[in-house]
Formats: sequence, C-alpha cells, structure tokens
Amino acid sequence: MHQSFQIAIDGPVAAGKGTISRLLAQQLGFLYVDTGAMYRATALLALREGINLDDEDRVVALLEKSKLEMRNPLPPKETDGRLTTVILDGEDVSWAIRTQKCGDGSSKVAVLPKLRRVLVKKQQEIAASQNVVMEGRDITFRVLPDANLKIFLTASIEARAERRHTQYLSKGVNISIEEVIQEIKERDERDMQRDTDPLHIVPDAWVIDTSNLEIEEVVKLIAEKVDSLHQ
Ligand code: C5P
Repeated sequence: MHQSFQIAIDGPVAAGKGTISRLLAQQLGFLYVDTGAMYRATALLALREGINLDDEDRVVALLEKSKLEMRNPLPPKETDGRLTTVILDGEDVSWAIRTQKCGDGSSKVAVLPKLRRVLVKKQQEIAASQNVVMEGRDITFRVLPDANLKIFLTASIEARAERRHTQYLSKGVNISIEEVIQEIKERDERDMQRDTDPLHIVPDAWVIDTSNLEIEEVVKLIAEKVDSLHQ
C-alpha cells in the first residue's frame, strides 16, 4: 500500500477537473498534478519538431530526451491565471500548451500505448512519495488504482462547451460555440474509443455531475469527503 494520500480524478474534457483539482489541492495542502499537461507538452514537442503525431517511436524518443518539469505556479510571475507551471527543456510552456492545436494534438498522441506507458510511470513516481490530487483520463484505474478516493467528474456537453468557450474568449481566441462543441465531441470520441485505457467510470468511483454546481460547491463536497475518510 502507498504511503501518500491519493485523490484520483478522471472525466471528459472541460468538466472542470483542472480548476476543481487545483483548488482542492490548495485547500488540503496537496500537490496538484495535471496529467493532461504532460500529453500536451508531448504534442507541443512533436509539433515543433515536425514529427507526425502517430509516429510512436519518434514521439517517445523525443519525449525521453527532453526534460519535463511541473510545479505549482510561483508568485508573483507565474500567478497569471495558470493552474500549473510546465517547464520543457528550461522553457516555460505553461501557456504554449493551452492552444487548440496542442489540445487536439494531445488527444492524438494519447492513443500511443508506448507513450502512455512512459507518462504513467512518471505520474506514479510523483504520487508515490507525496499527497496528490491527480487528474486526467486514466488515473482512477491505470495510474492510481489504489487511490484513497476516486472521482469521476462530468457535466453536460452544453455546460462543458460553454465553459471552454468562455476560456477561449478570455484568451482572445475567436471561436464559435458550435466549433467548441465539435472539438469537444471529437476529443471525447478519441478518449473513449481508443484501444489503450479508454476513459470510463470505474465501479468504485464517486460520480459528480458539475453541470449545475458552482466550482466552490464541488470543492467543498470533496473536501468534506476527504475529512470523513481521514477520521
Ligand atoms: O486534460 P486535457 O484536456 O489537458 O488533456 C489533454 C489530452 O490528453 C486529453 O484530450 C486526453 O486525450 C489526453 N490525456 C490522457 N490521459 C490523461 C490525461 C490526458 O489520455 N491521464
């Protein structure tokens, strides 16, 4: 059994996993780990090098020779609205990985089994020695199958599209709500249909639908549950 306290959160794109996990981790004094950022950073590397996103061996080789670091944002420079700081070969790519192109690319490289093995191992190492709130698509059943608390966060496609649309607009990205719905549907399809570790709900997961809940309400619900488990 692991020594650390592990909270594993899975769910589809734009269900609120990032914001909720970050706030929860802050409140509990745990490390927040955004595993999607690792797939995004891999996509960024491959796109910059002009490597095909389905060229598994080259994508894995590229990742293995790169240095990927993640940490909580450091004040004052890094407290600019980001949820996590991602450093790739010494460069702060926290915002560069948030583009639509990287989001799309990340769900393409995420179907590569060898790449998943490399990233899952890194994630397990991080969670072995410290208390974490780790979120992604395979955390409850592949990365941390013995987590103390497993959660599946979800929301209606309309609620998810609306949130993602607002995020895009706030970053100055001009995109219609229809395009966002289309993007979300395509990514859901890839995440749930892939052969290796498709996104699904495990029997012992606590399913929370965030469509009609405020972020703070969800954080409070989970924090209360953690308290009850500690007692
Ligand atoms: O969470 P985020 O949207 O940033 O993740 C980017 C992509 O990375 C997802 O669409 C998914 O395909 C992939 N991913 C994954 N497994 C994880 C985290 C993310 O396959 N644990």
